[in-house]
Parts: sequence; C-alpha cells; structure tokens
Amino acid sequence: MNKRTLAAEYANHSEAIFKCPVCNSSMRVFELKSLICSNNHTFDFAKQGYINLMTHPVKNKYSRKLFEARRKLIAEAGFFEPLSQAITEIVYKHVDINKKSLSLIDMGCGEGSHLFNICKSIRSKYQKIITGIGIDISKEGILEASKSYTNKIWTVGDLANTPFMNEQFDVMLNILSPSNYNEFNRVLKADGLLIKVVPQSSYLKELREIIFNQPEKQSYSNTDTVIRFNENFQMVDNSRVSYTVPLDKLSIQSLVEMTPLSWEAPKEEVKSFLNGDTTQITVALEILIGKKQ
Ligand SMILES: [Zn+2]
Repeated sequence: MNKRTLAAEYANHSEAIFKCPVCNSSMRVFELKSLICSNNHTFDFAKQGYINLMTHPVKNKYSRKLFEARRKLIAEAGFFEPLSQAITEIVYKHVDINKKSLSLIDMGCGEGSHLFNICKSIRSKYQKIITGIGIDISKEGILEASKSYTNKIWTVGDLANTPFMNEQFDVMLNILSPSNYNEFNRVLKADGLLIKVVPQSSYLKELREIIFNQPEKQSYSNTDTVIRFNENFQMVDNSRVSYTVPLDKLSIQSLVEMTPLSWEAPKEEVKSFLNGDTTQITVALEILIGKKQ
C-alpha cells in the first residue's frame, strides 16, 4: 500500500476528530484519498502521507534544512531522550491508567520526533493503544515528519484555528513552541492533560555564551510564559529536566542549524562554535503540567 493510502486508512479510524477548517462541519475519509466535509470541502492526503488542512498558504520562515537538522539531533543523537522519559512518567502519573487507549496531540510538532518518541515510550511502558496526532503550520516540518514516521496523523494546520472538534484529546504536548490557549482549551477533553515544555534560563547556555556578547541575551527568562500558562490552565504539577549532551562535529552543526538564536548571531561567532570538534551542551527544561480550569 502506498503512503497516501496508509495515511488515509490510519486517519479513517479517527475521522470523527476532524472538523472542516472552512465551515466547521464534520468530516469523513473519502475513498482513502481525501477528507471531505458535509458541505463537500475536500482536502487530499499527500503522497508522502500527511494532510494539509490550511485554508490559505502561509509564508514559512523555517526551512526543510532546519527540520532535517532537528530530526537528526533528536532521533540520532538522542538530544531530548531524558525529556521523553520524563513526559512518559508524567502521563502515567496524571492520566487515568484504566483508559485502554489514549489520544496524544502535539501542537506545533515540527518534524515529529518528539511525538514519535513519546508515543513509542508510552506504548512500550504501559501497553496502551496510542493514537498520535501532530499538527504544525509548517508544511516543511510535516513533510519531514511524514517521511520519517508512519502510523501517525500528520496535519498541516493553523494553531489559531485547528481542524479538530471540541474535546478530542487526552494528552496535549506543546514543546518549545508557541501556545494558543483558546484552541488548547477547546480541543482538550474535560479530564485531559496539557504538557508544555519551556526552556530554563541555562538552556543551550554554551551556545548562547559564544554567540552573544551581551549578557542579557546569554540566558533566557520564561517568567511571562509561566504567567500566561497559569492564567489559562490550572497548573497541577511542574518539573525540571536538566542534563548535558556531548556533541560531535555533526551534531554541533545540526544544533546550530535548528536553533533560531544562532541565525541572528554574527557569522564569525557561529563559525568559531562550529569549528569545535566536540562540546558539551546544557539542555535545561521546565515542564508545566496543566488541567482545564
Ligand atoms: Zn466544510
């Protein structure tokens, strides 16, 4: 079976989650080729195995190269492995373990490696049926995700107007990515769990110290992000994950390519960072865990 048909068949089991991004009516999978709404708005599955539910094209600032670099770093260098483990534990602690199946959505999934790793880890640890849905506004990200990972629903869509019905998901991930709390509230189930990951001040500090001369840019504050989270969700728990990752030359290159902060840095500084053979880099993250208010 080709990837388009496989993707349509996988989505077919979950077609009730979708709503038409044009007219908000319900949708169904048609002839294992398209999603079609009751007013006949039609969106085709792409041959790579994703579905584009955008109603208008958007200019994308993130390139395919960035997503390839990110996937390499996560999938091959294990850059976020401790984070996946921590999230698996959090799901076990906060989600009703008697549920036979779980639906997990990653809001702003990029190239999909977080969703893939976390679904895999939860499935092997707790023997649950997991449906994984990734949505991102970047077609390049979703394209990379669908090429790398099957048995997921990969959707190009707008986080401000997600193509999903109300209260569909048990667990929502939002990892190092902007939030739209109105939509998060709308599509999360009443007993659902929001897991948002934000950087701690020392996140990637070795990279920041080298490429920025100004001390105020060398660390990062997440105070405003935490305040906004608390305004919109009830924080039930939070935890911190902090570790260092050894990077070889190729991984250093991937890290620089995937990190927007290095794009605004002076070229010479970036070059000197890239010329190192190996380095240690700090990954320091805070995980905010919320339920609906
Ligand atoms: Zn429609």
